[in-house]
Amino acid sequence: MTVRALVLDTPGAPLREAELPRPELGPGQVRIRVAACGVCRTDLHVRDGELPGPKLPLVLGHEVVGAVVEGNALPAGARVGVPWLGWTCGACRFCRSGRENLCDRARFTGYTLDGGYAEEVVADARYCFALPAGPADSELAPLLCAGLIGYRALRAAGPAERLGLYGFGASAHLVAQLAGRAGSEVFAFTRPGDDAAQSLALELGAVWAGAAGERPAELDAAIIFAPAGELVPEALAAVAKGGVVVCAGIHMTDVPSFPYELLWGERSLRSVANLTRRDGEELFRLVGESPLRISAETFPLADAELALDRLRAGRIRGAAVLVVP
Ligand SMILES: [Zn+2]
Ligand SMILES: [Zn+2]
Repeated sequence: MTVRALVLDTPGAPLREAELPRPELGPGQVRIRVAACGVCRTDLHVRDGELPGPKLPLVLGHEVVGAVVEGNALPAGARVGVPWLGWTCGACRFCRSGRENLCDRARFTGYTLDGGYAEEVVADARYCFALPAGPADSELAPLLCAGLIGYRALRAAGPAERLGLYGFGASAHLVAQLAGRAGSEVFAFTRPGDDAAQSLALELGAVWAGAAGERPAELDAAIIFAPAGELVPEALAAVAKGGVVVCAGIHMTDVPSFPYELLWGERSLRSVANLTRRDGEELFRLVGESPLRISAETFPLADAELALDRLRAGRIRGAAVLVVP
């Protein structure tokens, strides 16, 4: 038996549609029939060769929603999500201190493990999430990374009366709703003239939407989702004393040098990396209690390259999701 998948042979080259041999299940693994898989900016970075050392050939995709079809570790038929964090060692000092997201030997779905741009994926059951009933598969898929990283970045930003989001795509459109529920006023900063993203931000409750570089209010915290290093000094200049700037992306262009006074006044600058299973349990509990509005543009699996092109060009409103018939 074979599995239809889109394969990355060489970073920089287009994905190739292929029939792959069905892998054997290892201990604790389950086979999942993929229903939907989100297209994350990280996929684009791997596809374009901006992240070092992917497994090759590789099946991309780490926002996987599907049903268990084989394996004893989870009930057959259960709807589960497979996130970016695919395996950790459990023994290093990061794992032992509740920071498995920083594990020295972590393996990542759609990067160092095959992911969900395929009809089936094999995953370690301990890293799969049970998903709430209700939302459609394509609505849950963006939560598996955009939602999780956004949730982790929002926690890192801390309580904020006024929160700035730089880059308003898949992650920010979810974070805006979580932050609004927590009582924050959300300011959405986009590329100049990105009316689609700005209107989505306002629909989802942002109090202001405009171009990065504008200063509509003094912010308490800012999260940068866009992979543009020049936003770091810009966001530091926009936050008040004691403010926090969180870089949420896995890859960013170089950060330009900036005067120390932008950091002075106990401002802090940090990144967030990956996720822990606890992040997922918390986020899916929140979503189960009160669903988020998901703006998802869907594409058939075979059109993954088209979805990636649109994401690269900034022409996706919200999240892009591949659906597998
Ligand atoms: Zn570890
Ligand atoms: Zn991702």
